[in-house]
Amino acid sequence: MDRKGRFFVFEGIDGSGKSTQIQLLKDRIEATGVRCLETKEPTDGPIGSLVHQCMTGRTTADEQTIAALFAADRLDHLLNETDGLCQKIQQGISVISDRYILSTYAYQSVRVPLEWLIQMNAQATQALQPDCHIFIDVDPEITLERMAKGRFHTELYETKERLTEVRDRYFDLFDRFAQQENIFIVDGNQSIEAIANDIWEHVAHYYV
Ligand code: ADP
Repeated sequence: MDRKGRFFVFEGIDGSGKSTQIQLLKDRIEATGVRCLETKEPTDGPIGSLVHQCMTGRTTADEQTIAALFAADRLDHLLNETDGLCQKIQQGISVISDRYILSTYAYQSVRVPLEWLIQMNAQATQALQPDCHIFIDVDPEITLERMAKGRFHTELYETKERLTEVRDRYFDLFDRFAQQENIFIVDGNQSIEAIANDIWEHVAHYYV
């Protein structure tokens, strides 16, 4: 793709501070005079809604079907004629997504073979590769404390063991994809401002 805008993806366990940092990075990008759009996966589009229903148990489907829905939602996110990200990026808009392909691999590879997920997402990988995947690395115990303070819904069912497993899977993926993807791991145990500064230091060269 002939790229004009940038594409950044935030990854991390739930409660790691993705939304907080996405907003701060967006503000910094916009301060340089570049338009910036914040988005997330699964999306709020029609296929994303089905994915949300499967995740909350309102609709039941086989794990492979759910994985295929995630992949379809991602393609729609990228290629939709009305508001697809590829088109936005070609217009020079920077896009920041809360989760992308590495989330699929980290969360779904428990039930669906990783190789299968990689194949199923090959089109999306080709259509839009992130300039940088930013992984906010937080100690699962700290995440749980933060969530207990600020949240009151499903995430409270998270356990330290599960969060640790997801974090471990992310690190296995970083080893595997180190050659082909630009992955930045930021120490998420710091203050909100210190994390934002580290991230900006890493991506500012795209703008200044
Ligand atoms: P995510 O989007 O990854 O689920 P959030 O950005 O919503 O995470 O952050 C989860 C909670 O932790 C929120 O209440 C947020 O205010 C708080 N938080 C985020 N980053 C930090 C930080 N560096 N230090 C302390 N609290 C934080």
